[in-house]
Amino acid sequence: MSNCLFCKIIDGTIPSDKVYEDGDVLAFRDIHPKAPVHVLVIPRQHVATLTDAQDPELLGMLMDRVRMIADKVLNLTAGYRIVINVREGGGQEVFHLHLHILSGKKLPF
Ligand code: 5GP
Ligand code: ZN
Repeated sequence: MSNCLFCKIIDGTIPSDKVYEDGDVLAFRDIHPKAPVHVLVIPRQHVATLTDAQDPELLGMLMDRVRMIADKVLNLTAGYRIVINVREGGGQEVFHLHLHILSGKKLPF
């Protein structure tokens, strides 16, 4: 998707502070962190929002990769929160599916 911000981060057109990448996902620090640790995990495949992610394998892969990045790459031993904002009503601003990993402070619900 040529007009998608996160596709541009994947292809390197827009720089990012990467923490992990493989053939399926990219993880990078949020530009406006809402917690001391705030990392976004995105699939390389462009999927606009959770509703459009019809493939259970894609969803399973993302959840597996997110916990691996949180536990093994970021070493968030005290714990963390995973957030997916879905469409405008859920606070989604970038329409390329992404999971937020948040940690490092007491998070309000
Ligand atoms: P959403 O509200 O769509 O769930 O989350 C989008 C997130 O992307 C926001 O937390 C926002 O700060 C982050 N973001 C927006 N533009 C950029 C960018 O150019 N680079 C990075 N690293 N994060 C961005
Ligand atoms: Zn995209």
